[in-house]
Amino acid sequence: MANKKDYYEVLGVDKNASEEELKKAYRKLAKKYHPDANPDNKKEAEAKFKEVNEAYEVLSNSEKRKMYDQFGTADPQSGFSGAGGPFGNGTYTYSTSGFSGFDDFGDLGDIFSSFFGGGFGGNRSQRNNGPRKGADLKYDLEISFEESFLGTERYINISRNEICSTCHGEGAKPGTHAETCPICHGSGQIKQVQNTILGQMQTMRTCTNCHGTGKVIKEPCETCKGKGTVRKQVRLTVKIPAGIDDEQTVVLKGEGEPGEKGGEKGDLYIRVHVKRHSIYTRNGNNVHCDVPITFTQATLGAELKIPMVDGTQEIYRIPDGTQPGSKFVIRNKGFKNLNGNSNGDFIFTVQVQVPKRLSKEQRDILTELAKTMNEQPPIKKRGIFG
Ligand SMILES: [Zn+2]
Ligand SMILES: [Zn+2]
Repeated sequence: MANKKDYYEVLGVDKNASEEELKKAYRKLAKKYHPDANPDNKKEAEAKFKEVNEAYEVLSNSEKRKMYDQFGTADPQSGFSGAGGPFGNGTYTYSTSGFSGFDDFGDLGDIFSSFFGGGFGGNRSQRNNGPRKGADLKYDLEISFEESFLGTERYINISRNEICSTCHGEGAKPGTHAETCPICHGSGQIKQVQNTILGQMQTMRTCTNCHGTGKVIKEPCETCKGKGTVRKQVRLTVKIPAGIDDEQTVVLKGEGEPGEKGGEKGDLYIRVHVKRHSIYTRNGNNVHCDVPITFTQATLGAELKIPMVDGTQEIYRIPDGTQPGSKFVIRNKGFKNLNGNSNGDFIFTVQVQVPKRLSKEQRDILTELAKTMNEQPPIKKRGIFG
């Protein structure tokens, strides 16, 4: 899908739209473009319908919306893989692909069934017995200011379900097998026919004998007690790219919960929290800090050694007559831009220090100086004496 449109544009809402506004816009458009409602131009409607669904699926999920906002309106495939570059190997990616499957209505089901009188519900229950993607997991990771600047590699321990290695996920004791449920014959669903005043009505319900799995296990695997999965602590390596900002997210695709019935694994969302630094602050991709200088340095000019975030030093010459609070910019020494190769700047503000104690010699020199300056400094413009 080249030239993906802006999701906000697709839904016709603005960037700050509330959940309620999104839902409203989505309902309206989904109804308008539903292929069943457009028998004359089904193809076109279906394309629009897909687009609307995809936009809503991302924007209605606060995590995904945040990610989308983070990386702008670009096509996730290309825009995000660019950002994935610093990760090096392909395991780590910002990609949102996998969010957008048209077939996977997920939690939208309730909305559809309310529109289409359960027509969709019927489809969904069939789909329920097919492969299902595993749940996504979340993890909060705190890193230092320097780590966010330089990028880092961290180990994290997460607890998640893993396919049981004893029974390979089948749930049956080795040597035995799960059998097809005799009640539903493997469909996981039972058809019920009710006689009503409107005639016969057919409904489907989940088979209670197999709980919708379509299989019964006579001798459960002892390791997983028949579940097919076991809870495990897993240690993972997370590569955090240089330039990542507080509250941004790194996605480890396929590191979430296992899928069901051959469905793909969920993803792991790692929300990054950057600790405050005692000296530096961040604004966009720029680094800010205060640099103390003496009043003689301010008056006569000086060569300053400015400590950079990466531990190196930059020599910077401030001119004579530098005023307190003056800002100086060292270009390209700020944070790396996650989406490109550019860097922010390093901006420092000089804080002129007035000495609290002077030696006798210093005091004498200053007194001499004060005489030459006529005690009251000349105030040229709009001063309180002017
Ligand atoms: Zn097992
Ligand atoms: Zn059954």
